[in-house]
Parts: sequence; C-alpha cells; structure tokens
Amino acid sequence: MNRFYSLVIITSFFLACTQKPTSDALEYDFSIKGASIIDVETGEIKPNQTILVNADGRILIPSKEMPWTSRQKIEGKGKFIIPALWDMHVHFRGGEELIGENKALLSQYIAYGVTTVRDAGGDLTSSIRQWEKEIESGNLVGPKIFTSGPKIDGPEARWAGSLEVSNEAEIDQALDSLESLKVDYIKLYDSKLSGEMYLTILEKAEKRGLKVSGHMPFTVMLQDAIDRKVTSIEHLYYVLKGCSSKEKEITEKIRKGELGFWGSMAQLIESFDEEVAKERFTSMAQNGVFVVPTLHIGNVLSYLDQVDHSNDPNLSLIGQGIQETYQGRIKSAMGASKEAIENRHNLHQKFRTLIPKLQKAGVKLLAGSDGGAYNSYVYPGYSLHQELAIMVESGLTPLEALQTATLNGTEFFDLSADLIKVKNGSTTDLLILTGNPLENIKNTQAIDGLILNGKYLSKGDLQKLLVKPN
Ligand SMILES: [Zn+2]
Repeated sequence: MNRFYSLVIITSFFLACTQKPTSDALEYDFSIKGASIIDVETGEIKPNQTILVNADGRILIPSKEMPWTSRQKIEGKGKFIIPALWDMHVHFRGGEELIGENKALLSQYIAYGVTTVRDAGGDLTSSIRQWEKEIESGNLVGPKIFTSGPKIDGPEARWAGSLEVSNEAEIDQALDSLESLKVDYIKLYDSKLSGEMYLTILEKAEKRGLKVSGHMPFTVMLQDAIDRKVTSIEHLYYVLKGCSSKEKEITEKIRKGELGFWGSMAQLIESFDEEVAKERFTSMAQNGVFVVPTLHIGNVLSYLDQVDHSNDPNLSLIGQGIQETYQGRIKSAMGASKEAIENRHNLHQKFRTLIPKLQKAGVKLLAGSDGGAYNSYVYPGYSLHQELAIMVESGLTPLEALQTATLNGTEFFDLSADLIKVKNGSTTDLLILTGNPLENIKNTQAIDGLILNGKYLSKGDLQKLLVKPN
C-alpha cells in the first residue's frame, strides 16, 4: 500500500502540468460549484467553493480570476465536501472457499464512501495483494487496502493462517516472513499468545521499525505494553484493564489461572479508578499509542439477545458462506446466561464512557468497524458510519469523530495529512454530502456522490455497487 501513497506524493508535485489549455481557460474533468468544503483538521467550513478535479484525481481550488472549463459539471449548491472515509479495522478471511464472497465486499465499502481500509489480519493475504493490483489498474472497484497480513498468535491459534510463536526464534521467523510480505503493520492476537512472547514481539518489532497493533494477553499489564511502544490497541478490553486500581492483583490471578478474560471484566469495571485511568491515558497520549474502540460491533454483539437482524437491508448483500460464519457468535449469544448477557451490556456501556476521557487526554482514536466474516451483522461501509455515530453518542464532537476516520488514519501510517485534505494539489477522494456532518454526524450517510481516483460516481452509481453476491 505504501507504494501507492509514495506515487501520490510524487505526482502531486507536478500540479498543473497536465491540464490542456482550451483558448485561455484550462479544462478539467470535473467541477463542483457552490459547495461547502469542510476542513477536517480545524472544522472550518468554507462556503460556496469551486473544486476542479483532473482525471488523475488532483484537486484545484481556483481563484476568482482563474479561467477554467470542465467536461462534467457537478452541482455543489447546498452540499458539503469532506475527504472520503477510512475504516481502520476490517477483516478479509474465511479460507479459500470464501475468497469470492470477500472480494464481493470491496465495492460495498466504496458505495458508502469508505475508500481506504486497514485489514486487521486474516488468511487471505495473497488474494488481497491480487485485489490491490486489480483495484489500482481500474479493473475492480474497491478501497485502498493497508494490511497486516496474517496475525501473530501462540500455538494452536484461534484464527486460521496465524503465525504461531512460542519462542524467540519463531518470533524472528514470523517477523522475517511478514517483512518479506511487505505488510503495512503487524497484528497480534491473544488466543494463545503468552504475555512474555507478546512483550518480546513488541521489543523486536520496534527494533525493526515495524508498527504493532493488537489485542494484548490479559497476563500483561497495560503500562508494560505502552512502555514497549505498542502502536495501537484494538478494542477497549485492554484499555479498561489498565484503568483498574487492582490491575496487578487481577493480572496475577489470571497468570495463575484463577481468573479468565471474561471472568475478570466485572472486577475490572468495579475497580475502575479515575486517577489510574488519567495516568494511563496520559502515558498513551505521550507515547503516541492509538486506540481503536470498535464500539459499533460491541453494540451489535452485546445486544444479539434483543435485536433481530434477519431483516437488515444489508444482510442480503453478504454471501451465504460469510453469513454462515455469523452463526458462532449468534449461538454463543443465544446460549448465554441472563447474568452473562447483563454483564456484556454493562461492559459495552462502560466502554462508551471511556471515549471522551481518552479523547480529552489526547489519545488518538481510530474508527474501525471490525466488519468481515465471523463478525455477525457488521456490514462493510455501512458499519463505519454507525461507528462514527456511536462515537458521537458516547461523547465525541462530530469533528473529532470525523478525524478518527480521516486524519488519524494518515497519522497511524505516518503519512502527510495533506494527502487527505481538500486542498490544492491533494489527490484525496472526495465525499459529497447533502447535509452538514459537523451539525449531525449522521449526515455522513447523506451521500450524494463520490470522487474516487479522479472518477465521479453519482448517488445512482454508488447504489449500483450494492449488488447481491451470486
Ligand atoms: Zn478484528
């Protein structure tokens, strides 16, 4: 993926070299006239702007005096322009037989204005590489993909395709193999990974300059992961653990096998300590640790007992094979005791209270849906908008929520924020909305069109991408 962005950086220096003059006016492929441009960094709204776009996606905001023409005119009056969105936690997985169904998800991201995704590990890396080529050459409609490749976990890992490590030599081998796959970052999973191996991976990865995201074994203290420069923490279980005044005691019980992951949650909630949380969050902010809360999927999975999803409009867009992978989580939710269900609800609500506290401490949040096979009823593209909405319901401002799906993504990958700003020379994909998302975050769903890699897709074109798989 990095290759794509380096290309963008190089080409954007040649702004204005490719436009052909017609008489004295330069001709562009598209113009959007009269729209309001939202600066997702500052929240500033510039009304009544003209945006010119070339076929290579480069943007020019012309001065009043500059003469121009365009082959296609897009009405911008009453509309709001933001950079297209990034989903920072998705999955492509489920084995060879689900390759086709995973591929069919790609265009759904685009239909919802999500033009960049971060794949958080799976068993379809070679297919992802193939799709990336097809997308880049214009033969496939889909987002730009950052991928971790296979996850690293311990022996007999939960997820197929994981690289299993139980000693230092195996860690070196796993990191070698991921580097040769040119993955964009490393994803750790905690089904069988020991705390010692987890901390060793962080140390070794840092020496190689690799970013590491993930779950964290509950045998590890959160501050130890922060001190060893974990790049991002996926989900809030691990964050909550580090906010407990009894973390040490609880961790010790988990190490001895006296307490399990789920079993510890009630104690963690009970021993949540504002001062400890503040200290931990400040340390995370100082060390540049990102957090991916994945609240929407938490909401969906926590309330499977109450919500019937069988008539979800987006369910029919999911292939039969992927729908079958939903059964595991559904069955376990249905079989859960009344007490377990109540605990799950409490946990979800507790997680939501962490959002404004993390933001206030300066921790960078990333919007991630966790959509993909096995993650029941979390739909590609659609779910990212739900994630933004629940972040706002939990205490972020709409601008802060927008940043989690735009700016903060570029920051995670050390890319220039200029890449996604709606400004001269940028090649960012543009999302055209009929409502102001800073007034109501749900307006990110009021999509009127998208400019993707220099091509204009109207609302009708986008809806045509929501096709049922064969
Ligand atoms: Zn995930």
